[in-house]
Amino acid sequence: MEQTKGGPDRRIGRRALIIGGAAAAVGTGALLARDELSRMWWQVPGVDKPRVEGAVDYTGARWVAASSANWRRADRPADYTVDMVIVHVTQGSFDSAVQVFQDPGHGAASHYIVRDDGHITQMIRELDVAYHAGNREYNERSVGIEHAGFVDRPQDFTDAMYAASARLTAGICARYGIPVDREHIIGHVEVPGTDHTDPGEHWDWDRYMRLVRRAGTGSTPA
Ligand SMILES: [Zn+2]
Repeated sequence: MEQTKGGPDRRIGRRALIIGGAAAAVGTGALLARDELSRMWWQVPGVDKPRVEGAVDYTGARWVAASSANWRRADRPADYTVDMVIVHVTQGSFDSAVQVFQDPGHGAASHYIVRDDGHITQMIRELDVAYHAGNREYNERSVGIEHAGFVDRPQDFTDAMYAASARLTAGICARYGIPVDREHIIGHVEVPGTDHTDPGEHWDWDRYMRLVRRAGTGSTPA
């Protein structure tokens, strides 16, 4: 606590403070603007984020819109913290997954679908809440990635699919500051209350996590 208020030294101090204060006010404004500029626009709460028709969040993904019945408009990560990636397997072909996510009667869809050749289709913006986890809280906090294939067909999980999906997940983790670990990159089967088993026992988590880490650091995956 300051004990010596009002003395001669204090008056000088106050004048200096007032002069300094005017300069500080200008400086604060400039600092604030610079601070805002240095933040990525989508991290600033309350900003009505611009949306461009057909825009994707991951370079290289192709946009195909899911039915609006299969997701909810949001403003993530301003309204919900995104701290998870959830890995799925479609239990069907790539084309059938794209088709059902466009069907308003399906009631579910993920943000991305990865094909066996490494092609990635984005169907829901990361801003928005996709209905993929069967758990409201987990939907709100996660990005969902489907992998075309069947849980009991390990041959469906190709090298190209692992590599493409790992790059996608590494990008998501970098965008939202998500730790690259199995607490934050989980399978649908690990979502509380789910009766889904995907991605199943043949999904190679050790390999996948290694690829995600390497994609995140920019070094070449082995
Ligand atoms: Zn699933």
